[in-house]
Amino acid sequence: MADTDAQTVATRWLQDLSVACAKDDASAFQALLLPDGVYRDLLCLSWDFRSLSGREAVDRFLRDDNRLARAGMHAFAIDASTGFGPPFFYPVPGAPPTVRGIQLSFTFKLQSPPAVAKGLARLMQDPQDGRYKAFTLFTSLHDLIGHEEIVGAPAIPLSSTWRQIREAKVSKIESDPTVLIVGAAQNGLLTAARLGQMGIPALVIEREAQVGDSWRQRYDSLKLHTYSRICSFLYESYPQNFPQYMPKDRLADALEAYVKSQDLVVWTSAALLPTPTYDDKTGRWTVVVMREGKEVHLRPKHIVMATGFAGEANIPSWPGKETFKGVVYHSGVHPGGHHFEGKNVVVVGAGQSAADICMDFVRCGAENITMVQRSATCVTSLSIVENNFYTHWPEARSVEDSDFAVNAFPQSLLLRLAAGGGTAMEKEADKEMHEGLRKAGFQLTWGQEYGKGEIGMFGILLQRFGGYWLDQGCAQNIASGRIALKQGQEIARYDEDGLVFADGSKLAADVVVLATGYKGIRHTASKIFGKDLIDKTTQVWGLDDEGETRGMYRPSGHPGLWYAVGGFNHARFYSRHLGLQILAKELDLKA
Ligand SMILES: Cc1cc2nc3c(=O)[nH]c(=O)nc-3n(C[C@H](O)[C@H](O)[C@H](O)COP(=O)(O)OP(=O)(O)OC[C@H]3O[C@@H](n4cnc5c(N)ncnc54)[C@H](O)[C@@H]3O)c2cc1C
Repeated sequence: MADTDAQTVATRWLQDLSVACAKDDASAFQALLLPDGVYRDLLCLSWDFRSLSGREAVDRFLRDDNRLARAGMHAFAIDASTGFGPPFFYPVPGAPPTVRGIQLSFTFKLQSPPAVAKGLARLMQDPQDGRYKAFTLFTSLHDLIGHEEIVGAPAIPLSSTWRQIREAKVSKIESDPTVLIVGAAQNGLLTAARLGQMGIPALVIEREAQVGDSWRQRYDSLKLHTYSRICSFLYESYPQNFPQYMPKDRLADALEAYVKSQDLVVWTSAALLPTPTYDDKTGRWTVVVMREGKEVHLRPKHIVMATGFAGEANIPSWPGKETFKGVVYHSGVHPGGHHFEGKNVVVVGAGQSAADICMDFVRCGAENITMVQRSATCVTSLSIVENNFYTHWPEARSVEDSDFAVNAFPQSLLLRLAAGGGTAMEKEADKEMHEGLRKAGFQLTWGQEYGKGEIGMFGILLQRFGGYWLDQGCAQNIASGRIALKQGQEIARYDEDGLVFADGSKLAADVVVLATGYKGIRHTASKIFGKDLIDKTTQVWGLDDEGETRGMYRPSGHPGLWYAVGGFNHARFYSRHLGLQILAKELDLKA
């Protein structure tokens, strides 16, 4: 089939989808997918994030509550304005070169709620009948008509100055915010920027004295793990001369500058006090914020918890700590390896923080460094992940278009493909590194998807947000013995000089670093809202039965309470969907 035919095939497929929707024909709709195709929908057909695997599940979803008919999807049109251009053929990974898929971007409208939406489909030929059908179909609510996100330069009325407009806005937001965002790092600030463009008054509160302090307080050599383009903010990119891997202080300053550049309203030295109460009748919270030592009472309709996925440090309570003559601290407050040159260091834990901190000790000349690994860890070279990211967020395309395409790929399918061969390829590429680790006694894992196969680093990240590291030299140092390993033994207690293990063995230490993880955002939230309320909310992170991330930028299980967590790409992309869900509540739009 000639390349020019991608447009013809895609147009025909979209036409068929349009007809199926016009006739409210769920059978015809699902028949446009491959038998094992996945349909991911964000807010077009329900006020939630859904991923339906296989035609049967799609059919049920469309018929439930008469969804397809109620939504009234119409006005489908190919969208060539994205960085992807018109529909195009792409090689199918792992398939012979003659097998090609077709990717198309499209727009459409909804009757209920009146809205515009965007879609992306990846078509492949069905071996049964030779027709192109969707391997993945993605639909995503974009704008509610009449409440569109402001795009581009705002108009400043001739009668007012920008300062007057700003003062009026600040006064409105400070006295009666519709949304209170707790936490002014990337998730909180990007959400605030998005809500601002959607016309939703949002106040951000931050417990630290300066925005960015939570990064500034970390050890000197800390950098982001992925390159700056992927970690860029919403509506603006970093200056061209920024470092490729953002050092923590540069990021802290960039976050602070973002408050000004996006004209956000942020209170620093401000914390939400326990215990906010929610009135079902008015749909408002009653909250008290301690701002610079003074209580401020507010009645927002929504609270967005953006206090960080990790939350409070998890500190194991082994006995004998008082007898230990050395220093013990959690990885979250690692002051930098230069404080411990020539010392014996034990790092407890074998995840990303443990690997980063071990490497910091290597660079700073600690005498002996030992990593304590309790179970098994997934280790993947940073270069593999980088290549993956470069492919998905290429320079040639806008970050926004890339975010859309990445999120158009259902996570359930990502796990399926990883388990079906992707992880094996990753393992092959890292074979030598893994061999070195194994010889040193290190235990490796690639996780499991429901017992179906190994899901690799991304899968483990999606399921646990821990239990892996992106390697930047730590593996080599373990293989060479520069970083020693203590594997598979529980720590029983501290003694004067270090740690004693369950089998009676000992490790001498001047410094013990507890890279033992965090208690999670629900723990933080429980301390503010009370355990009873938070126990009723969904888990945050990990995947639900459909492969959607639990609790992240979607209904929490409690009205007016939301969790904004995740990496930079999540904040950029899903802040829109959080804004739309909040608008839907404000406009009393039914699911
Ligand atoms: C070394 C390292 C490298 C990383 N690299 C990447 C990367 O390359 N790409 C990527 O996407 N992610 C990366 N991450 C992960 C992720 O982006 C960060 O964990 C990020 O900090 C999450 O942002 P956040 O806004 O959710 O929360 P946080 O950055 O944790 O910020 C939470 C904010 O809330 C404030 N706060 C907390 N409690 C309260 C309260 N009760 N009241 C008021 N304010 C409160 C805190 O002071 C803080 O400012 C990296 C993380 C680390 C540690």
